Amino acid sequence: MNEPEKNAPSVNEFSHRVRSLWMAELNTNKFDVIIIGGGITGAGIALDAASRGLNTLLIEQNDFASGTSSRSTKLIHGGLRYLKQLEFGLVKEVGSERAVIHRLAPHLVVPEKMLLPLYEKKGLGYWLTSIGLKIYDFLAGVTGDDQRKMLSRRQTLRYEPLLDTQGVSGGALYAEYRTDDARLTIETIKTAVKNGARCINYLEAIDFIYADGKVSAVKMRDHVENRELTVKAVTVVNAAGPWVDKLRSKNNSLHGKRLHLTKGVHVVLPAEKFPVRQAIYFDVPDGRMIFAIPRGRVTYVGTTDTNYEGDINQVFTTREDALYVLHGITSTFPTILLTLNDIESSWAGLRPLIHEEGKSASELSRKDEIFISESGLISIAGGKLTGFRKMAERVVNLIIKRSFEDSTLKKCFTDQIRLTPDSFKNFREAHAYQRVVRTRLPQDIPDETIRYLIESYGKQVDDILNRFQSHKESDAAQRLLLAELDFSIQHEMTISLEDFFVRRTGLLYFDIEKISRHLQAAASLMKDSLGWSVQECDRQVKRMRSLMAEVTAFKSNA
Ligand code: FAD
Repeated sequence: MNEPEKNAPSVNEFSHRVRSLWMAELNTNKFDVIIIGGGITGAGIALDAASRGLNTLLIEQNDFASGTSSRSTKLIHGGLRYLKQLEFGLVKEVGSERAVIHRLAPHLVVPEKMLLPLYEKKGLGYWLTSIGLKIYDFLAGVTGDDQRKMLSRRQTLRYEPLLDTQGVSGGALYAEYRTDDARLTIETIKTAVKNGARCINYLEAIDFIYADGKVSAVKMRDHVENRELTVKAVTVVNAAGPWVDKLRSKNNSLHGKRLHLTKGVHVVLPAEKFPVRQAIYFDVPDGRMIFAIPRGRVTYVGTTDTNYEGDINQVFTTREDALYVLHGITSTFPTILLTLNDIESSWAGLRPLIHEEGKSASELSRKDEIFISESGLISIAGGKLTGFRKMAERVVNLIIKRSFEDSTLKKCFTDQIRLTPDSFKNFREAHAYQRVVRTRLPQDIPDETIRYLIESYGKQVDDILNRFQSHKESDAAQRLLLAELDFSIQHEMTISLEDFFVRRTGLLYFDIEKISRHLQAAASLMKDSLGWSVQECDRQVKRMRSLMAEVTAFKSNA
C-alpha cells in the first residue's frame, strides 16, 4: 500500500515526494508568475495562469485553504443581501458564476434550495421580497424550476415546521448551491497542477528582491526543510487574503486603500438538537440575517460579522460569538432550546474586505479590488469564494497586458476546465453513482458516509475504494478512513494530520468524535508513509488534540 520512498513519484502524484523534487528545482527556475497565497483566490489565479501557458508557481505559508477559504459559510451563492446594498454588478457576476462552478464540479457544488421565512413586523415583507428575488434571478440568469417561488404561511411552515407558527406570515424558496470551500480550493489547486503549475504548501514569502526598482524575486522560507531560498519571477501576485496588507507593507506599498478585516463565526450542532429540514436564511434580533444549513449528521449555523483587530494567525470563536448565534436560533425557532454545551464544533474566519470610511462591518462591500505597487507587485483583496474564477481572469488578463502582451497566450477558458478528473456530467449522474459505491462497501458503512465521499471526491472515490480493498483492519469505518488518508497523501499533498482532518475531510468541524476514534491509526499510517520519527508522530497527535480543544474552548472560557 505505502510505496517505498525510493520509487519515483508517478505522473498523477501530488505528494510530499513531488514536493521534494519541485523544491530542488526552485533555485534554478525563473517563473512567469509567482502567486503568494493558497486560498481560493490564489488557487483560481494559478489555474487560470497555468492553463493559458504561463510558467506558474503558487506558494502557501501553511496548508492550502488554511486561511479564510476553509472558514466560510460554504455556499456558492449570489449574495441576496448585496441586492439590498444595491450592488447589482456584484450580484450579477457571482449569481451567474454559481451555475458555472456547479457545472465544473457537480458533485462538490450541490444545488440547495434556500428557505426565506417572512414576518409581518420585520424584514422586507412579502411583495418587496418577491420583487427582490425576481431581480436576483434575472441578474443571475436563473431559469425554470430554479426560479424563486413565493410561499403562503402554510406552505412555509410545511417546509420548516420548527418556525414560530405565530410570527411567520409567508416565505420564499430560492436556488443556491452548497459546497466545501477547502475541497473546492484543493481541487482547483490539483487542476492547476495538472495544467502545469507548481503549487507548494508550507512555503512562506518572507521578502521581495528588486532589480531596477521592480520586484524580481521572492525570498521564501520552507517550513518543511527549515531553510530559506530565493526564487525569480517576471510577475508576483499577492493573493494572501487577510495577510495582503502585511505583504504590501513588506513591499513598502501600503498606501491608499487598506484591508478591513471582519470576523465571521459558525457553530455546529448535532442535527437532533436543531433538526431543520433544509437550508434556511433568517433574521436575528439585531436585524442581520444568518444561515442554518443541514449537513449530514449536523446543522451548522452562522455567521457573525464583527470588526477584527486581533492576531490574524489566531482567530477563534469566543463565548460572545457563540451566544449571539444561539440567541439568533432560539429567537426564530422558539421550541429549540440550546446551551453552549450543545455545540459540537465551530470555526472562525476573517473576511479580507476593503476599508470604506464610516461603514460598519456588515455594510462593507464584498467586491474585489486589485492594487499595483510602483515596484510591480499585484495585490488582490476582497471578493467571494463564489467569484474566484472571474477574479482570477481579471488578474491574469492584467499580468498578460503588463508583461506578456507580445506572446501568443490563450484567452481565459477556465469556464471549460472541469475541477476533478473524470468528472460527472451533472448532479444527477453524481447521485446515481451512490448506488454503485453502495455495492462496493459493507453494509455497516452508512449511506451518509457514501454521500460525503461522493460530494467530496466525485469519481476519485474509485481510487479510495481500491485502497479500501488492500487495507486489512477489521473495523470497516477505520479501513475506509485510512484508504481516504492514503489517497490524500498521494494525490492531495497532505503532509500533516491537521491537513487531513481539517482541510481535506472537514472532520474537525463536522464529525469531531470520529477523529478521536481514528487519530492513532491515522498517525501510524502517516508515520510509515512520510517517514516520521516517534517524536514527530507524538507532536502531530498533540497538535490535533489541541485543535480539537480549540474549536469549543469558549465553553470553558466563562
Ligand atoms: P485566504 O483563503 O485567506 O487565502 C490566503 C492564503 O494566503 C492563506 O492560506 C494564507 O496562509 C496565505 N498566505 C498569507 N501570507 C502568506 C505568505 N507570506 N506566504 C505564503 N502564503 C501566505 N464567500 C462565498 O462565496 N460564499 C460564502 O458562503 C462565504 N461565506 C463566508 C463566511 C465567512 C465567515 C467569511 C469570513 C467569508 C465568507 N466568504 C464567502 C468569503 C470567502 O470565504 C473569501 O472571500 C475567500 O475565502 C477568500 O479567499 P482568499 O484566497 O482571498 O484568502
